[in-house]
Amino acid sequence: MTTDDLDDFLAARPLKSPREVYDEIEAARRAAELALPPEATIIPMPEYPYLWPHPLSGIVRFPCALVCGWAHDEDAFAEDREPIVVPVGASAQDLNRILNERPRQRAAVLCGRIETAIRSHFTEVHPGQEPPERRAW
Ligand SMILES: [Zn+2]
Repeated sequence: MTTDDLDDFLAARPLKSPREVYDEIEAARRAAELALPPEATIIPMPEYPYLWPHPLSGIVRFPCALVCGWAHDEDAFAEDREPIVVPVGASAQDLNRILNERPRQRAAVLCGRIETAIRSHFTEVHPGQEPPERRAW
């Protein structure tokens, strides 16, 4: 595509007002909300006990929902240290798939690790009580 092609392409498309763009984004957001009802999770809302530039500023804390003082910590900066491997000659679709699969897999592993820690904590410290659920985002 040349810059002339791009100019022709853009000239053929009517410019949208910022309000129209906002309305489109808002409609898409609402549609996405309706398409995916919030799921229940035992993972509590995270806390960020150390602010940047504290050396532990990557710590994300998930406190016990029963406020007993226990918390599970995850180091957000320790995540994603592995290089992204893209095959030579990968298409844009391959690249898109690789870049989308990675955070999904990481999120599943992270949620599993946090849930396991919370269930272990409840088994040891709050026997007979299920971890309370909340609606996920
Ligand atoms: Zn507890």
